[in-house]
Amino acid sequence: MKQVKCPHCHQWSSDPEICEHCGKAISREKRELEKSGGQKKISAPEPPGKLQQFFEYAQKSKNPFIKLLYFIVMSIWGIYVGLVVLILYIAVAASG
Ligand SMILES: [Zn+2]
Repeated sequence: MKQVKCPHCHQWSSDPEICEHCGKAISREKRELEKSGGQKKISAPEPPGKLQQFFEYAQKSKNPFIKLLYFIVMSIWGIYVGLVVLILYIAVAASG
């Protein structure tokens, strides 16, 4: 049977998932260590505070001009976010 050395108590465990001596997870700890070293997350950028304030103001506003402006800014922001995510995706795909 394959034995694994526990990173917590440094004893040999016959269970590769959970240490039979101290009961702590062995494999999960290893996996998380590998993850944090290599992989990068792809996430959309958050709108800056002023833009968010404008969105909230424009959503409540009854002025049709403000509403039109809101939709224009929204669509520009949507295109910007889409582009950033696309660039991030290409960068991650190219590096790995
Ligand atoms: Zn242990």
